[in-house]
Amino acid sequence: MNVAGPRWDPIAKAGRPVLPPNLDDYEKVYDRFRWDEARAAMDGLPGGRGLNIAHEAVDRHAEGPLAGRVALRCLDRHDRVTELTYARLRDETCRFANVLRALGVRKADRVFTLLGRVPELYVTALGTLKNTSVLSPLFPAFGPEPIRDRLRLGDGVVLVTSLDLYTRKIAQIRDELPGLRHVLIVGGSGAPPGTVSYREVMDGAAADFEIPPTGPEDMALLHFTSGTTGRPKGAVHVHEAVVAHHATAAYALDLKRGDVFWCTADPGWVTGTSYGIIAPLTHGATLLVDAAEFDVRRWYRILEEQRVSVWYTAPTALRMLMRYGTGPARGRDLSALRFVASVGEPLNPEAVVWGVEAFGLPVHDNWWQTETGAIMIGNYASMDIRPGSMGRPMPGVEAALLERGPDGRARVSAGRRVTVARGPEAEGELALRPGWPSMFRGYLHDDARYARAFAGGWYLTGDIARRDADGYYWFVARADDVIKSAGHLIGPFEVESALMEHEAVAEAGVIGRPDPVAGEVVKAFVTLRPGYEPDEETRRELIAFGRRRLASLAPKEIAFDRHLPHTRSGKVMRRLLKARELGLPEGDVSTLEQSP
Ligand code: AMP
Repeated sequence: MNVAGPRWDPIAKAGRPVLPPNLDDYEKVYDRFRWDEARAAMDGLPGGRGLNIAHEAVDRHAEGPLAGRVALRCLDRHDRVTELTYARLRDETCRFANVLRALGVRKADRVFTLLGRVPELYVTALGTLKNTSVLSPLFPAFGPEPIRDRLRLGDGVVLVTSLDLYTRKIAQIRDELPGLRHVLIVGGSGAPPGTVSYREVMDGAAADFEIPPTGPEDMALLHFTSGTTGRPKGAVHVHEAVVAHHATAAYALDLKRGDVFWCTADPGWVTGTSYGIIAPLTHGATLLVDAAEFDVRRWYRILEEQRVSVWYTAPTALRMLMRYGTGPARGRDLSALRFVASVGEPLNPEAVVWGVEAFGLPVHDNWWQTETGAIMIGNYASMDIRPGSMGRPMPGVEAALLERGPDGRARVSAGRRVTVARGPEAEGELALRPGWPSMFRGYLHDDARYARAFAGGWYLTGDIARRDADGYYWFVARADDVIKSAGHLIGPFEVESALMEHEAVAEAGVIGRPDPVAGEVVKAFVTLRPGYEPDEETRRELIAFGRRRLASLAPKEIAFDRHLPHTRSGKVMRRLLKARELGLPEGDVSTLEQSP
């Protein structure tokens, strides 16, 4: 089933303003698009001194018509609002750059943040970029060990944190971090010995700062990723990435000047930086930030009261909203909302359709990774949505599917050659042709791993996908998550999505459990919606339902789980479900979100 684009017009129906989409004709724009032209949308530093993300996001708007526009509107947990106009954000970020300079923090030095989503986080992020230092934002919920590992791996020189987080998490590991020269404490009164009060140094800093020459290839951002598997790796991004942040937000999020944009991701995850800080500001939008965690009523209230026009969220949040049906959305005035998008995990077809019922708008799924730095595949405002599909490659992005070898990944020859899967319907490892501006430029201190990520002129994503005859891409699985059962290769997402069509199922996580006969059998862990009992009857009902829907791919076993383990970016951690099932060590769980 398709949810139609231009012909089906929910916007007009809901009495919303009809604005022409930025990407009005996919084929035409895809054919003509050149990154060089996208680069021309950037101003560059005055005097031809290069390209700096913070200049494109803030300073270029800080004079002229946007100066008085709200750049950043932060809601704290108690609904207190702090607003910074573009002019004010320019001043504050200049101050922070001066603070760094006065501390002797230089180009390429790493500045880490460990903060809730408070205004100081955003000022620190952009001020760091102005100083040509490198920003590495960490999830504030990390425990001391993951923080220590990342500060070490990333050569952290500065850490900006709160008094509470310092006391609970940093004080105990400080001695193990000799390279960490400065700790700045936000909020609270006073700073413990060995730290500096953020407010004090900011008060003493000038609000003028000339951004030093910045090369487009200068390192700007360091994002740690462990995905749902493996140990953390530091993905390096450069200032030129801003070209892709800007262009992809225009096309895949339909972002326009004047929008109120809410990205629900924390900057500790790449989405919360590329789109939760940089892209909306480059567009002159108002960036809305909420410091609180997910809450059904709160979120609808924010959408309504803040007049959010473009909303970027994640499947896990949408599934949580879906648990409560469309009731809480009714009676809300969501007329300002124009575009809804989702990323991070496969978006179940159910969720796309549910968006139409709840908001009068379908949810646009898009796909990318920490390594790609920006959206690579998406569903666009002017295009029909095929629920369950990630959409089509961004203009400027060449995607392919590579034939796979016995280990499930692309088959790479001794000469590092690969074979592109051709034909109208293809399946294989998703690969991208290097050359887009936000491509990662390395894994910090791990050149060999970086080199292994490329073969035959492609970047290998580690995801398995399918492409239909019309060029839409469909996510199958992370290569590590594929289940091999009785000769079938099964993507857990397909099974999870089918189960979610049952009214009792709020969320599902599917793994392969080793089996002497079948190789693996499909086992599903299911969270039920309120009002359903985790009993034998429900289990039998779900097994039968799965069989009707999926035949040989159906789960043979179903277990109930009130809280599936998620990463902090919202992905179901299938690896952990499997480790727990098999009684194996849980491995690196630093990105695990604690159950509510
Ligand atoms: P991260 O680097 O933490 O953002 O994780 C990237 C991975 O998340 C991708 O390689 C995919 O496995 C998964 N992912 C992100 N977006 C999507 C999507 N729209 N559909 C399916 N999987 C996704």
